[in-house]
Amino acid sequence: MGCLPGASESGAGTGAVARAEASGESVLAQGSARGWRPPAPLDSKRAMGYLEKLCKLGSRTTGTVGMQQQQRLLEEHFGGLGGQIQWQTFNHKHPLTGQSVEVRNLMVRWKPELATRVLLCSHYDTRPFPDQDPKNPRGLFVGANDGGSSTALLMELGHAMSKLDLKVGVDFLFFDAEELVYGAGVNTTGDYFVGSTYFAEQLVTEGPQQTYRAGILMDMVGDKELQLSWDEVSFKHAPGLAKEVWGIAKELGLKEFSPRVLHSIRDDHLPLNEIAKLPTIDIIDFDYPTVASRSKSYWHTMADTPDKCSGESMTKVAAVVMAWLQRQKP
Ligand SMILES: [Zn+2]
Repeated sequence: MGCLPGASESGAGTGAVARAEASGESVLAQGSARGWRPPAPLDSKRAMGYLEKLCKLGSRTTGTVGMQQQQRLLEEHFGGLGGQIQWQTFNHKHPLTGQSVEVRNLMVRWKPELATRVLLCSHYDTRPFPDQDPKNPRGLFVGANDGGSSTALLMELGHAMSKLDLKVGVDFLFFDAEELVYGAGVNTTGDYFVGSTYFAEQLVTEGPQQTYRAGILMDMVGDKELQLSWDEVSFKHAPGLAKEVWGIAKELGLKEFSPRVLHSIRDDHLPLNEIAKLPTIDIIDFDYPTVASRSKSYWHTMADTPDKCSGESMTKVAAVVMAWLQRQKP
């Protein structure tokens, strides 16, 4: 995630948030108090396996070999599950070399025949370097949580898509070049949200081939210490959607979802809301691992590795999103 977290906080403030105690396993296995059962199983171990597989590719920065390998992997994965693959490819000036670099957004479409659609989004590029790493800011950054977890979550959710009773079409959208950015603080070079900005602009200039009703972006959803609050952008542009999704989490007994505005996050949902005017929320756990540990965050460090993540965290979020998809009316 290439977000620029704001200083703004409200709600519980900076104190440690009690660690969520809900058991995702029981929710996913037994259903909620109101009787919701996942219509298709979500497999935490398999989700974690996907995350490890992505991280084994190493860096997946825009235009690199690791990214190309990931693109092949995702195309095979979702094609094999019956998703319709579409690429949106364009060139961007590389912030360091000035050379042209290919940016590729990947769309996986489910029920492509339906005109009314929703978007589930993730960035799938990784930041070139772990710029916040205290020891080695030019080391290897594999982005297990940041770029990896939301991609692995959608890989897992892909298994369920053909089994869901959907009244709307669903597009998984993997944004490239969310953070083709070098350096930190005032010494930053490069642009954020390159892929999502292009997608949003194309949606406006070309006119939608289909009508998108809403979007859910996911980012940093694999943290073992999952704590999900609203961010200011989501709550400003799509408060109804934010409340709806967190309400579903409450029904499912998932205490990791806390209905309060905590951060000001700039992420791929910004161009979708501001350029395409598509109400889009971000499900993001920016405190990695916890609010209390912010001074020792794994964010943009070499420590953002799979051992800090959990398949249960990913499948809890996937279960909420799945329930939301099933409630969409035509
Ligand atoms: Zn990032």
